[in-house]
Amino acid sequence: MNKEISTPIRTKEILAKYGFTFKKSLGQNFLIDSNVLTKIVDQAELTPESGAIEIGPGIGALTEQLAKRSKKVVAFEIDQRLLPILEDTLSPYPHVTVRHSDVLEANVHQVIADEFEEGQDLMVVANLPYYVTTPILMKLLEEKLPVRGIVVMIQKEVAERIAAKPGSKEYGSLSLAVQYHAVAKTALTVPKTVFVPRPNVDSAVLHLELRQKPPVDLLSEAYFFEVIRSSFGQRRKTLLNNLQNNLFSKDQKPMIEEVLAETGIDGRRRGETLSMEEFASLSNAFYKRKEIEDIS
Ligand code: SAM
Repeated sequence: MNKEISTPIRTKEILAKYGFTFKKSLGQNFLIDSNVLTKIVDQAELTPESGAIEIGPGIGALTEQLAKRSKKVVAFEIDQRLLPILEDTLSPYPHVTVRHSDVLEANVHQVIADEFEEGQDLMVVANLPYYVTTPILMKLLEEKLPVRGIVVMIQKEVAERIAAKPGSKEYGSLSLAVQYHAVAKTALTVPKTVFVPRPNVDSAVLHLELRQKPPVDLLSEAYFFEVIRSSFGQRRKTLLNNLQNNLFSKDQKPMIEEVLAETGIDGRRRGETLSMEEFASLSNAFYKRKEIEDIS
C-alpha cells in the first residue's frame, strides 16, 4: 500500500521520479502535511454523495483526500507536465477526472453540467495559486455556480481582507465584493513550513458559504460596486471627498450632500466604516437620481 501523496517522503519520490521542477510563475507550492489537508477537507463538510471541484491539483495531495471523502472529483490543472504524474498518483481513484485547462478560461458551468448530477451537493476546494487568487475567486462567485461553498487556502493577508468587518483596517472593496456573494470566514492559519517549496508568505484557509440570495436589494449591482470602489479611492479621505473626486465632480457637492443627508450617512466618515447595507442605500439613492437626471 502506497503512502499518502502528501507525505514528505512520497512527494519527494514522485518529484524525483518525474524530474519535476516547480514553476514559480504558476504558484506551485505543494502541501506536504496530511493534518493540514485533513483540516481543509473537514471544512468542506463533504458527504459520500458530494462532488468536489479542485483548482490546481499539483501532484494530487489534496485531490486524494477529496477522492476519499466524495463521490466524484473534477480538477482543473494548467500545467501539462503534471498530467502524466496525476494519472499515476491518482490511479487508485477512478472517480477523479483531471482537466487540462486554465480555470480562468474554463466554462465551469458546462463542466459541472457534464460531470456532476443535477442538484448534487458541490464544493470547490483548493490550495490556490497565489498569483491569481482574487481573479479565480471572483470568477467563481460572479458566475453564480451551483455550488454550496468554497474552501480555499490562500495568502493569509488576502483571506483577512476578504473576511474583514466594517471598521477594521483590512475592510475594503474586496471584502464587500466577496461578502455580497458569500458569508466569509477564515478557518485556520497555516505556516509556510507545510509547503514545498516554502512560499514567502503565511497562508490561511478561507471558508465561503454561498448566499442563496443577495444580502441587500440593489437597483444596479454594477453601480453599487462603482460607488464602493469610489468610496475607497483614497483611504485617508472622507466619504464625501472620495465620492466627489472619484465618482462625481466638485460642482455636484450639494447633490452628494443631499443624498448623504437623505440616507442618514455622515459624509465625514471614511469608506471603511460603512456597512454593506449603508453602501446599498447610498448607491440606490444616487442611482435613482442618476436615472432621473443622469448625474454622472
Ligand atoms: N493542490 C496542490 C497541493 O495542494 O499540493 C497544488 C497547489 S499549488 C499552490 C497551485 C496549483 O495550481 C499548481 O498545480 C499550478 O500548476 C496550478 N495552477 C496555477 N494556475 C492555474 C490556473 N490558472 N488554472 C488551473 N490551475 C492552475
